Amino acid sequence: MNSYTIRFRLTLWYSVLVVLTVLFLGAAVYKAAAWGVRKAADQELSSGLTGIDAFLQHKLAIHDMDNLGEELREHSALMPRGKMFRVRDVNGKLVYQPDLMIPVADIPPYTTELRGTNQVRSGYSYRTMSRITNVGPYVFTLQAAVDQTEYDQLLNRLMFLLICCIPVGGCLAALVGRWMSGKVLAPVHRITATAQTIDAHHLERRLSLQGNGDELDQLSGTINSMLDRISDSYDRIAQFTADASHELRAPVAVVRSTAELLLMDITDHGRVQRGLHDIVEESDSMTRLLSDLLTLARGGLEEYTGNKELFDLSASVSAMVPRAKAQAALKNIGLISEAGDGPLAVEGNQVVAERVLMILVDNAIRYTHPGGTIRLKTWREGLRCGFTIVDSGIGIAHEHRNRIFERFYRVNSARTPGDGSSGLGLSIAKSLLDLHGGSIQVESELGMGSSFEVSFTVASHEGERVIPSPPHT
Ligand code: ADP
Repeated sequence: MNSYTIRFRLTLWYSVLVVLTVLFLGAAVYKAAAWGVRKAADQELSSGLTGIDAFLQHKLAIHDMDNLGEELREHSALMPRGKMFRVRDVNGKLVYQPDLMIPVADIPPYTTELRGTNQVRSGYSYRTMSRITNVGPYVFTLQAAVDQTEYDQLLNRLMFLLICCIPVGGCLAALVGRWMSGKVLAPVHRITATAQTIDAHHLERRLSLQGNGDELDQLSGTINSMLDRISDSYDRIAQFTADASHELRAPVAVVRSTAELLLMDITDHGRVQRGLHDIVEESDSMTRLLSDLLTLARGGLEEYTGNKELFDLSASVSAMVPRAKAQAALKNIGLISEAGDGPLAVEGNQVVAERVLMILVDNAIRYTHPGGTIRLKTWREGLRCGFTIVDSGIGIAHEHRNRIFERFYRVNSARTPGDGSSGLGLSIAKSLLDLHGGSIQVESELGMGSSFEVSFTVASHEGERVIPSPPHT
């Protein structure tokens, strides 16, 4: 694992970048300066050689080729300071050479083309150039040189300066980089410090925003909205746990008080029997409540999130009818099933559809007086299909209609022992349908009965064979 801090890495990168820039720029400046100096010297030397050539041509033209050495010495007086030349004849014999030219070596082989070299002799540096020239029948070797010592010293000083700039630039870059990265990362330290103080007991705390909308502000905003969501879920879980404990407390209290009453006098067999009967009923209702709670808890709902399958909703509903009829008959309620024409192909989870159906049938039976009727019909309208359960029961007042799908919501909150009412059935049905792309709607008038309609989208490939599957009971 790389344990270097971001601040350290930023500083390092910045320093390396500056050092490399200084290095490349320095090298470029040095090269350009050296090239410029040499180019200027070469121009001077080549024009000097051309001058000597012209001088010799002139001497030939006026037939004055005697005493050339002396003539050339006089000509050399016209040359700029530091510039000198030497002339040899075809045999290499010196025609003219000033003393200052002695240390400058010849540059054979001689050609008619210009040839140049750099030479360092006894601490002096020279740029020198030579070429052969034909002056009538005569052949001369001309070589000019210029003292470059001062320029070389200047270039050396420039190089020294540039080399010094590298560590100085590096150190400065490190200092500036450290300061800059410290400034840039300061908000990160603030975020870290605040985030460390946020725990389950302080979920209301939020990261402060600078308001400049930069990346770190955006990050803080994102973390804040994530904290909002976590806090919401945390509150909901806390509320759910509180509601669940509250719901369980009542039946447990009933069981306890009934058992205590029985303990006071266990000789009265009739009373003992009634008491035990109440206890069994309460236990049943607690078992139902616990299984509903489990279903609502994430693990419970996931039980129903299995793979989607193509099934016939109409067949599923028909298969549940005998069981629903038997249940309704126990309360002397008639259940009429009106199956629509043909199969209803739905791509979803058959278990979910059956579970929702049974929740609605249970409710219809529970909230319908003996002698009443329940109608169960399947239908299809365009691309939607589903089932509707209509009862002639007590109905639901307008103000309660939107709330009956909330967890633990009961229209009549007073409970009677063993009535099996927990306020969870419809919220389970809605959660399951939300997970499986179904929807549920209610229509009801107080005292006039209720109608619950569950709908799904018709499977797009309904033309395929629908595999009839046995109902899951
Ligand atoms: P439970 O039935 O266990 O109380 P539900 O979530 O299934 O919980 O229902 C919530 C509330 O909606 C019920 O308490 C009841 O008041 C009302 N309700 C549900 N179904 C019907 C119905 N078919 N007729 C009248 N009221 C109903």
